[in-house]
Amino acid sequence: MRRLITGLVGLGMLATALTGAATATAEPPHLPGGPCLQEDQNVSLSSVAGYDDVVQALDRIERTSNGLVSVDSAGTSGEGRELYYATVGDGPTTFWLQARIHGNELHSTEAVLQILDYLAGGAPDARLIRENLTVIVIPMYNPDGAEANIRQSTTPTRIDLNRDWENFAQPETVAFWKLWRDTAPELALDLHHMGQAPVVEGTNDLNQFQIGARSIDPSRMTAEQWLTNRQMAMASVEALDQYGLANVAHYPLIDITNAGLSRMLMGGTAPAGEQPVLQSPTKGAIFYEVRSVGQKSNGQLENLFRIPTMAVLRAAADGSLGTQDVSGYPDLPFASQEQCGRL
Ligand SMILES: [Zn+2]
Repeated sequence: MRRLITGLVGLGMLATALTGAATATAEPPHLPGGPCLQEDQNVSLSSVAGYDDVVQALDRIERTSNGLVSVDSAGTSGEGRELYYATVGDGPTTFWLQARIHGNELHSTEAVLQILDYLAGGAPDARLIRENLTVIVIPMYNPDGAEANIRQSTTPTRIDLNRDWENFAQPETVAFWKLWRDTAPELALDLHHMGQAPVVEGTNDLNQFQIGARSIDPSRMTAEQWLTNRQMAMASVEALDQYGLANVAHYPLIDITNAGLSRMLMGGTAPAGEQPVLQSPTKGAIFYEVRSVGQKSNGQLENLFRIPTMAVLRAAADGSLGTQDVSGYPDLPFASQEQCGRL
């Protein structure tokens, strides 16, 4: 039925365009550009990487990498799945690349697997990144939630793993906190999907990408951390500008101290029996929010993760991140909270 209505609206717009005689009452709603998720849309999950796919992909990449990639487990999830991560490169700066802490935010997993595959290859920038960075790739931080296709963990409790870096109620959080402590990443990037499809404020443009340079108020960061976060953010935004059509906006201003990235920057907490990290090794930690899941544009959604991530990795590897201009950061627009396709 929706398809029929859309078709009729389309015909109406065509007629209007041909006659140029629109009246206020007959004018169809102006839809933001780009595909919008519809309430009754049947989203196919068959092409999305599940836990077994991740295990297979990591195994293949490790085997064919000639020793450039190693895969290890940080521990086990509440349901007993291994918390796999891959390490590529042996440079002095450790870079933490994390996907799918929210189990139903699908395409970040595939994107980081593509990035890992690329970093294991022979391209000049892959080599540059390997020489200058040690990249920790976590394709599926929350495998139980991913298999259940929910945001949270499943056992022992159903909680948001990105709000657990103060309580450490979940085995996933304990395991990844220890990995963070032991690998001491200087830079961290966390990949998410938005729960909706807003438009860029003041426009009808579908907001495809939100940049999260601050999971906590900048007053909780050192000056160096806040600068590094904005440098990572602007390196990401400039790469997407070249890609076009991303319609980037700020993520809403939040101050969430129990999120993973927040505590990487702040330090000060630890699971039971462990010593808190008082002097955080992490100088920059930001997140991306890519437009929500649609079944016809998976490749584009993966690009929206892959392109800015690769730009930040290259900038960190060649040193240009440290001179990245951040003067445009305050001028980035925000997004409205309206649903895609509605005004
Ligand atoms: Zn998320």
